[in-house]
Amino acid sequence: MFRDILKRQQPTVYQILTNALRERKLSHCYLFTGPKGTPKKETALLLAQSLVCEHADIWACEQCASCRRVKDGNYGDLICIDGDGKPIKVELVDALKARFEKTALESNGHKIFIIDNCETLTLKAANSLLKFIEEPSGQLTGIFITTQPDRLLPTIVSRCQSVSFRPLSKDEFHNLAREKGYDEITAHFVAQLIDSADQIDTVSNNETFTNALVSFQQFHDLFFRNRPEAVLYLQDRFSRLNKSDRASARDTFRYFLDISLQFVSDCLNGYQSADEAYDQLLKTAAGSNFDYARYLKAIAETRDGFNMAANGLLLIDQMLYKLMEV
Ligand SMILES: [Zn+2]
Repeated sequence: MFRDILKRQQPTVYQILTNALRERKLSHCYLFTGPKGTPKKETALLLAQSLVCEHADIWACEQCASCRRVKDGNYGDLICIDGDGKPIKVELVDALKARFEKTALESNGHKIFIIDNCETLTLKAANSLLKFIEEPSGQLTGIFITTQPDRLLPTIVSRCQSVSFRPLSKDEFHNLAREKGYDEITAHFVAQLIDSADQIDTVSNNETFTNALVSFQQFHDLFFRNRPEAVLYLQDRFSRLNKSDRASARDTFRYFLDISLQFVSDCLNGYQSADEAYDQLLKTAAGSNFDYARYLKAIAETRDGFNMAANGLLLIDQMLYKLMEV
């Protein structure tokens, strides 16, 4: 149930809304703010469900017919507007008002609207909506959602109760990725590379990322046993960098560098991985006379120069030359 996820992931938000629901002291309108990937829309829907649920016990049951219809977008007295990428004009707000001025469609009687990406509301639309909220006919709750509160009209901020969602930590990204079924090593590196939870699937399923992870593992497996062979492996692996499908080869190599940088950081922090092979690699590195500082310098310089470099292969050769020395 989403309620349990919210409780664990956003305890402050959960507490604020629990108190409001329990004491029946809901605001007319809420403003949910927080970084991309935090569950603002899901929470808005859960709050809407909790207002109309047939068996609500403070929070919605998330299972009854009303709860399901809210989630599926088929609840008569719930209007969702998404301003993603386009301005929300006054005509849209007028249509919302026209519908909500009539008698409620559902027996519960509570009318709710959710406006996602509400920073795109035009001034006229926002003023019209706020005026409507202040003179509601019957029970009305509005939920505004944004990732960019600094772009909001002050009138919205001042009239709504703000509820802010905290950004997730790397550990939480890691746990989320594991819950989504990705393996330990994928979850570990993806968590370090992203800055919002909605990127977990995008990066984990990206072929250039998965190829980079394989290249990283194979290269380092050789690196601590037979460096000349490791060099040959990487040269061969990225020999297509200057060829026709170089865009994906370049993306793969960029991920390879990012993963390698994280590897040094893991070495320096004494990270212990639940992935057996990766943990073994970290132990091997720790037990060798591996020069972390020079390795880090070689990788970081390559990463810095890569976006500008016309000749990727030359850059790889320079990097490998430096890595031979560490
Ligand atoms: Zn329910």
